[in-house]
Amino acid sequence: MDDERIIQSWAERPGRHIVNLSGGKDSTALAIFLRDKIPQVEYLFCDTHKELNETYEYLDRLSAYLQRPIIKLNAQRGFDHWLDMYGGMLPSAQVRWCTRKLKIEPFEHYVGSETVWSYVGIRADEARSGYVSTKPNIHPIFPFKEFGLALGDIERLLEESGLGLPSYYAWRQRSGCFFCFYQRNSEWVGLMERHPELFAQAKAYESERGGEQFTWRQGESLSTLEQPERVAQIKREHERRMARERANRPDRPLIEVIGAALDAEDDDQGCDICHL
Ligand code: SF4
Repeated sequence: MDDERIIQSWAERPGRHIVNLSGGKDSTALAIFLRDKIPQVEYLFCDTHKELNETYEYLDRLSAYLQRPIIKLNAQRGFDHWLDMYGGMLPSAQVRWCTRKLKIEPFEHYVGSETVWSYVGIRADEARSGYVSTKPNIHPIFPFKEFGLALGDIERLLEESGLGLPSYYAWRQRSGCFFCFYQRNSEWVGLMERHPELFAQAKAYESERGGEQFTWRQGESLSTLEQPERVAQIKREHERRMARERANRPDRPLIEVIGAALDAEDDDQGCDICHL
């Protein structure tokens, strides 16, 4: 089947067609890619109410570009309620209750039992599988994988649309909650310097209950991370990685150098739903 026929076969499928936006570059590029190809697509954003302002601004710009509303879904109960229900245990990569409660359940509740074609922005150059619902009425489609679109293609789509990358990319390269535990050390320092009030809020979530420490980062609290000597060390290590990445590929734009340096610190792929 040629490319046009593939798109047409998707567009003709009966049911709802949905793109779940995360506020990140890949799901945004997917919305741009599909805008004129599948006009009935609905654009959703599951709002945790713990996002950066930059994310809301980026979504507003995307909505203007698409000339379509982005429907914001809210969990019936927010992060603080669920944190209480989980006994103060902060979410982590191992126990990621936040994604289920604040992203997956609101989406699945919203679509109910209707047939849904859920377009997912996993790129052709990524090994991760993306969110695949266990509900039998929600069917994933992976356009970037289908058409072999990789990082460079995504950047080109964003550039040509005029949207570019989200502005937070200058210091943090994953969308999602300001306190996301997937942040690398240098991204936490970026949060502390650019949004000190949010850093303070993230720190206030860390606690000790029944002799157990609940911190965002394994083995180190934010109170320790914010100490000047620790910040200086994190910055030094980040600069070292930046210099190495610049030397490896001097032709790359700064934003890519930052991304490569962050990945060199920790290349865990992050959340399949929040970081797209
Ligand atoms: S962005 Fe991070 S903290 Fe927020 S819901 Fe997703 S995984 Fe959880």
